Amino acid sequence: MAPVIVWFRRDLRTRDHPALLEAAERSPHAVGLFVLDPVLLKPAGAARVAFLFRCLRDLDAQLGGRLLVLSGRPAEVVPRVAADIGAGSVHISADCGPYGRRRDAAVGRALSEMDVELVATGSPYAVTPGRILKADGEPFKVFTPFYRAWVRHGWRAPAGKSTVEWMDVPGEEIPDDPAVDAELPEAGEKAALRTWRRFLDGADYAALRDRPDLPGTSRMSPYLRWGCVHPRTLLAECPDDTYRAELAWRDFYADVLWHRPETARENYDRKFDRMAYDDASLFDAWCQGRTGFPIVDAGMRQLLAEGWMHNRVRMIVASFLVKDLHLPWWWGARHFMRHLVDGDLASNQHGWQWTAGSGTDAAPYFRVFNPTTQGQKFDPNGDYVRRYVPELRSVAGKAVHTASVDGYPAPIVDHAHERQVALERYAAIKN
Ligand SMILES: Cc1cc2nc3c(=O)[nH]c(=O)nc-3n(C[C@H](O)[C@H](O)[C@H](O)COP(=O)(O)OP(=O)(O)OC[C@H]3O[C@@H](n4cnc5c(N)ncnc54)[C@H](O)[C@@H]3O)c2cc1C
Repeated sequence: MAPVIVWFRRDLRTRDHPALLEAAERSPHAVGLFVLDPVLLKPAGAARVAFLFRCLRDLDAQLGGRLLVLSGRPAEVVPRVAADIGAGSVHISADCGPYGRRRDAAVGRALSEMDVELVATGSPYAVTPGRILKADGEPFKVFTPFYRAWVRHGWRAPAGKSTVEWMDVPGEEIPDDPAVDAELPEAGEKAALRTWRRFLDGADYAALRDRPDLPGTSRMSPYLRWGCVHPRTLLAECPDDTYRAELAWRDFYADVLWHRPETARENYDRKFDRMAYDDASLFDAWCQGRTGFPIVDAGMRQLLAEGWMHNRVRMIVASFLVKDLHLPWWWGARHFMRHLVDGDLASNQHGWQWTAGSGTDAAPYFRVFNPTTQGQKFDPNGDYVRRYVPELRSVAGKAVHTASVDGYPAPIVDHAHERQVALERYAAIKN
């Protein structure tokens, strides 16, 4: 029987892996392949690349040291391997992003010329993007009705473990990690499952999820990003409805990007094409966490220190960039994509568009976050700020959100004034 190829991409695991099960149905002998694609590696910062390489080492260990790693363009590499081993089929979990879809179509065409089938089974989502439509056949544009339909649609139980014999084909070494300053979470499937167990044991998610000073969220995003775990595995043990809804946001944004791939770069709401922006002079201060707004600076420095940022703070820093500094959301999205270990085109671009007001759903443009009161509310003792902004460590308690300290910048803008400017610019494009 001809061997098969399991081409791993955003599914770096062996459990709950429908494509792997399908491959095992077709042949007892498989090559596990990962292609180091320069198109995807180039825009990723050192933290995400290092995390990826560590995940690959973990996957390689699970495959008994037989993960075949090769560099190059997938449309060339995958058919070459298929020809070399005489593969009967190539198995993938569907990739739903704009680049992944184009890439897979090209690989599928090249394989079909050799009479080798590219078989997509499952996707990185609980419900594959494109599946859930309104009664009139149109895609959902608002989260809450999507969520109701998503729950009604449901998802399968986690898939069982498969048994294939991994073939040993000589390839490249997994590269050494690039130099990285950020302290990263432990990588790989086992680490993902351990992190999940820890969260389940300690979780009071609904009460604590908005508190960046406390370990209240699951920290599963890097593992979901790289598919070290399938969201269905999490849904099967989901602690509460609030958590389930967060996983639905992930599916929702993937669905939005599936239907409107151009919104990775362009405003979802085209009237925002007329928005006026300021010059770039304050952008670096935001990137470096030197705006003089402690919660913003703490968030931006957490991003650099850990390759991750708490969701509440992502919203605060994003609002600040767009509505206090009047800079385009895609500048912020690009900076996030560079540094986030969980950087995901759908969640990131649409998280940004949501905050900017140009995206799907509520968060109307005129709801402008006040960074000081947000800090006081969600970091009530100031512990989060002190953790990431050493200049402010001498200030006790909540006063840290309004403190003026030598060596720490004064606020670079007057929030009350910038809020007015933001509202005026919104009024100008509204009609
Ligand atoms: C401006 C902005 C940019 C963002 N960029 C990304 C990104 O690049 N990658 C990413 O995974 N998430 C992104 N998010 C969503 C969210 O901030 C992170 O998923 C979350 O902080 C990850 O931490 P956690 O795993 O502890 O989350 P938890 O609160 O434990 O949530 C569990 C899981 O649900 C999903 N989820 C939660 N909130 C959202 C959301 N708002 N949108 C989509 N999925 C969500 C994530 O997969 C997350 O791991 C962004 C949000 C904003 C506002």
